[in-house]
Amino acid sequence: MSAQIERIERLYREGTLPQEEMSLLIEQRDAASTEHLFALARTRQQEHFGKAVYLRGLIEFSNVCRNDCLYCGLRRSNRACSRYRLTPEQILESCRVGYAHGLRTFVLQGGEDAGFGEEPIARLIEAIKSRYPDCAITLSAGEWPRAVYARWRDAGADRYLLRHETADPALYARLHPAELTLEHRVRCLWDLKGLGFQVGAGMMIQPPGQTLQNLVTDLCFLQELQPQMIGIGPFIPQKDTPLRGERAGSLELTLFMLAVLRLLFPKVLLPATTALGTIDPIGREKGVLAGANVIMPNLSPEDVRAKYTLYDGKNVTGIEAFKTQLADRLAKIGYEIGMGRGDAPGYAPKFMQDDGKGQRTPPES
Ligand code: SF4
Repeated sequence: MSAQIERIERLYREGTLPQEEMSLLIEQRDAASTEHLFALARTRQQEHFGKAVYLRGLIEFSNVCRNDCLYCGLRRSNRACSRYRLTPEQILESCRVGYAHGLRTFVLQGGEDAGFGEEPIARLIEAIKSRYPDCAITLSAGEWPRAVYARWRDAGADRYLLRHETADPALYARLHPAELTLEHRVRCLWDLKGLGFQVGAGMMIQPPGQTLQNLVTDLCFLQELQPQMIGIGPFIPQKDTPLRGERAGSLELTLFMLAVLRLLFPKVLLPATTALGTIDPIGREKGVLAGANVIMPNLSPEDVRAKYTLYDGKNVTGIEAFKTQLADRLAKIGYEIGMGRGDAPGYAPKFMQDDGKGQRTPPES
């Protein structure tokens, strides 16, 4: 047995590896042993999730952002970005369409938009929960004070996605303006955990300057945080950002890291992200075959989908076409769409309770 296969077997058996072995595992990856890694990742994936791939309805509610991350097309200094902010009515209509298609998780994603802050988001969560108490709400709205997160949690939000992007402070500083720090982002993640959110974190794969050691640092950070969701995706340059001329991250390394994550975190919810589908026409299927188990179709109104320009070339197919195509595409690789809320295993959802007067109130936590 080669040293690489031994490392993969050990990772599968023990669910972890010493840092130096993890570093070698990533560095010495090759096609043959990677196939073995993927097969073991699928074994773990199917132990906990069967052949179901959960769908989440993604609603990009605002592309206004107060931040200036160097890699992102929504950065505030990008004058080429055509800004929009959905109305509550548009968002509720997106939920209605998604619900009718069987979706039971809505992901509300936006830039850090001070004009769509604490109260508007809280009221929106309450409105969605009162209409669809059987659905989960995931927020992805960036860094806010703990009290704001607490308000959103009280309003009924179940999950929060806040990718850490990189757990290396020097690389974080290269990719973000000075006012954004890794320390603050990490504090937000712990605040969210403390408030009872199911938390999602994750890193970019191969932004400029990333080393293999940086990826090992990311894995260590995730082991410490123990999130319920991990979202990773390749760096994709966006033409109106300072990183426009840089090389994109590779599909190959992204898939490899997905499989490593599945073995490190067997029960984690692991999306095959839109970015994967952007850099390869069958990138999402490849992600599922590497251990991913979540896909997020876009529910945003058609006229704004193309304006949410995190990176270039983003796939923006609507829900109707997407779901039909996806069912076929998953069937071809032996998987199927899973239509429930798709909570992390072991998590018991608390549904809103009816007080008998037609009012719905959140249960005591
Ligand atoms: S990555 Fe997020 S916080 Fe940074 S500029 Fe883009 S939308 Fe704003």
